[in-house]
Amino acid sequence: MPLYFHPLYTNGISPDARFPRTRYERLKARLSRGEAEHTLQIIEAPVAVRDDIFLAHDADYVDRFLSSAMDSAERRRIGLRPWTPLLIPRTLRLLGGAIAALEQIAAHGGVAGNMAGGTHHAHYDFGSGFCVFNDLAICARIAHQRLGFERISILDLDVHQGDGTATVLADDDFARTISVHCAENFPLRKATSDYDFPIPQGTGDNAYLEVVENSLNTAFDHQPDVLFFQAGVDGLSVDALGRLELTREGLWQRNQAVFEACEAAGIPCLVFMGGGYSKPIDHTVEAFDDLFVQAARSHQRIMNRRGP
Ligand SMILES: [Zn+2]
Repeated sequence: MPLYFHPLYTNGISPDARFPRTRYERLKARLSRGEAEHTLQIIEAPVAVRDDIFLAHDADYVDRFLSSAMDSAERRRIGLRPWTPLLIPRTLRLLGGAIAALEQIAAHGGVAGNMAGGTHHAHYDFGSGFCVFNDLAICARIAHQRLGFERISILDLDVHQGDGTATVLADDDFARTISVHCAENFPLRKATSDYDFPIPQGTGDNAYLEVVENSLNTAFDHQPDVLFFQAGVDGLSVDALGRLELTREGLWQRNQAVFEACEAAGIPCLVFMGGGYSKPIDHTVEAFDDLFVQAARSHQRIMNRRGP
């Protein structure tokens, strides 16, 4: 399975930032061993081009970010402080990885992913919550306008609502936005997705998995020809920002339900990594390792069924 990565995913964030930046390089190291070593093809994420960012964002906002001209309030809203100029190439690689993964599934089907991103809190003309540009919205527009996908379902299972994706794509009928998230959590003021599944804090595996099942039915009722999966693992009970009580096993079952549904429907799946902030970060890295191992197995099943 093609999986995009770049050292800037970690190194583009200041070592003094509170954001757990090591999660990317640690996950990459972990995935380079064991089973995943043979089933994952880790590819260097390319640089996204400016015109692609314009597909979902205000040109003035894009250029202010790319020329380091944002004011301190705008930067504060994004977080990832202290600011470093490396955030610019990092952002472009991170978006480039998602777009390249999208092009992979457009050409070959199956599953592909980016070992970062799922930047669902980025809005049309401002960033927030560690998100600068919205890779889900940009990829949705590219998929529809350039790659021949007619209907897209975006299933956001991060513990935080996909507010930026919901607002950017609000008028795009081809894209169905679905968010399962903790009701009492960031963002304080929720946006309106096409379908929202707010769940109370403290929810455990069983109740959560029932809601995931409903959200999957909603995603497939749209008859999508591709599924975008925002696979944040910040619902883990040990997560610092999550407020849910999910276990690693619960998240494993969640991911499995998503991949098996895509296999059953015969549509490709694009995996965006999403949030995860456990302390220590090891639990988050383990849960992401599970995610990509499961994704790779799903991809392998699809390719085996297709035959030589
Ligand atoms: Zn999150």
